[in-house]
Amino acid sequence: MSKIPILAEEDEPRAIDTHAHQPTAEFLEDAGGEMMQDAARKFGTDIHTWDYEAMVEEYHEVGIGRTVMLGWDAETNTGNPPVPNDYVAEVRDDYPDFFVAFGSVDPLKDDCIEEAERCVNDLDLSGFKFQQIAQGFDPSDPEHDELWSTIEDLGVPVVFHGGNSTLGAGSPGGRGLKIKYGNPMLIDDVAAEHPDLQILIAHPAFPWEKQQLAICQQKGNVYMDLSGWLPKYIDEQVLHYAGTVLQDKVMFGTDYPMIRPEKWLDQFAEYTDFGEDVQRKILWENAESFLGL
Ligand SMILES: [Zn+2]
Repeated sequence: MSKIPILAEEDEPRAIDTHAHQPTAEFLEDAGGEMMQDAARKFGTDIHTWDYEAMVEEYHEVGIGRTVMLGWDAETNTGNPPVPNDYVAEVRDDYPDFFVAFGSVDPLKDDCIEEAERCVNDLDLSGFKFQQIAQGFDPSDPEHDELWSTIEDLGVPVVFHGGNSTLGAGSPGGRGLKIKYGNPMLIDDVAAEHPDLQILIAHPAFPWEKQQLAICQQKGNVYMDLSGWLPKYIDEQVLHYAGTVLQDKVMFGTDYPMIRPEKWLDQFAEYTDFGEDVQRKILWENAESFLGL
């Protein structure tokens, strides 16, 4: 039973998780590799895998009706295989009412433009996810401009990673990953030059939350989600903005399977005091309009 009354009031599970990965070996073991083991230690979780049947049931039980499942391709920078876009599309096709599927292209690969077009035109994927730290690229670098123009023309949204990453955390050299690429100011450039590109900055962008809030305020095409952080640990100013000036731009997300939906929602009930109108916006209304559902 949800501690958030508006979730229990709906006839059908209504909330939307804007940020989830696969609870399977494709993400946790193959694409994740050693840097994922580091992250799991950081989150205090054991890496074990389970299937989509169990995942969907877990979500439905707490009032979540849809989830954005993200692809992953950081092959050039990490050497790990991608979570293939075809696989993400297949999972979506198995649960078409539940999953909204976002693909991933590796901006350092020569065929990234063609792959982006194939994702939308052939696989019917609904958007793209970039993890600049794992993928090792600066989104504001002009060499990536054609990719942003292509996605802008395709008319689908993008999720960029925001802030530090737990991937590689605690390892010597952080396994070579550079956190500067998670600075949201690099995304501000992309947003300015591509006003029709709808951008969601995933996670409170620690330690650059203030920059992130400024960008979301100033750029009509930039949004953010609260994934990757349990509400107990989210910066107070972020929560204040989420309930006031940015209440039409902030969305719920977990970062499944590292953070589980029941725990996130319980803390959302415990550590925030938003009115029901703001709760509805954060938990599903803003995502419905951003995703065009
Ligand atoms: Zn994530």
